[in-house]
Amino acid sequence: MPSPTRSTDLIEMFAERAIYFLFGGVVCLIVWFILWHWRGSGSYDALSHIFLLFGVILVVSSLWGMMQIRTVKFHHVKCPFCNTVNDLTDAPTEDFHCVKCSRMIPIENGEVMSVSQVQCGYCQTLNYYSAKTEILICEECDHEIPISQDEEGRPTKSIPKAFKITDDDALYSLVLTEPGKNSEEMIATLQQMLALNRNQVKDILEGLPATLLTGINRRKAEMLQAQLSIHGATAEISAMEF
Ligand SMILES: [Zn+2]
Ligand SMILES: [Zn+2]
Repeated sequence: MPSPTRSTDLIEMFAERAIYFLFGGVVCLIVWFILWHWRGSGSYDALSHIFLLFGVILVVSSLWGMMQIRTVKFHHVKCPFCNTVNDLTDAPTEDFHCVKCSRMIPIENGEVMSVSQVQCGYCQTLNYYSAKTEILICEECDHEIPISQDEEGRPTKSIPKAFKITDDDALYSLVLTEPGKNSEEMIATLQQMLALNRNQVKDILEGLPATLLTGINRRKAEMLQAQLSIHGATAEISAMEF
């Protein structure tokens, strides 16, 4: 059985086996009955005993097999793509295909990993990826969709929901308009993003709106905007004019 095992597959296997046993058992009992019914003097012998024995064993095995169906465990795993519940006999240890949408459900430590959405820049179809995704190919048009990665090469979660690939060479500025609620996290993020010290960042936050970066491409601007939005901040992207 492939791991993980689906509960329905196991039930099917038990049921199938029970039916075979029952059928074999009934045949044996019919033979035994015929032998017993037409017994002449001495013809009801060891042979019919064997049929009776096999018949009873097979019927009992069949009943036992049916009872086993009730012991099949159900471990519900919700597909992160289509929300269909997949029933497994145990917690999954490796990725498996969703029974409904056939997408590979990413598993880490027995748990379903969270997935993010990304819009294909060629055909606008929504695609999904997880931290396990190395190369993302659009489900619809087979183009590769670039996903941004952190230092370890894993896709970051900060990609905007509808991240579009644009072929524009224009440069943009990122302007912070709302600082968001959690100022400490925000200060840390900005420190990292802008390579400034704490006081410089605080100065920026006091004089909003403030231009954070200029001369960056759209993709970078959108990534940083999404990173800021995680902390509740609002930043606007505007095209630079020359
Ligand atoms: Zn699914
Ligand atoms: Zn596509």
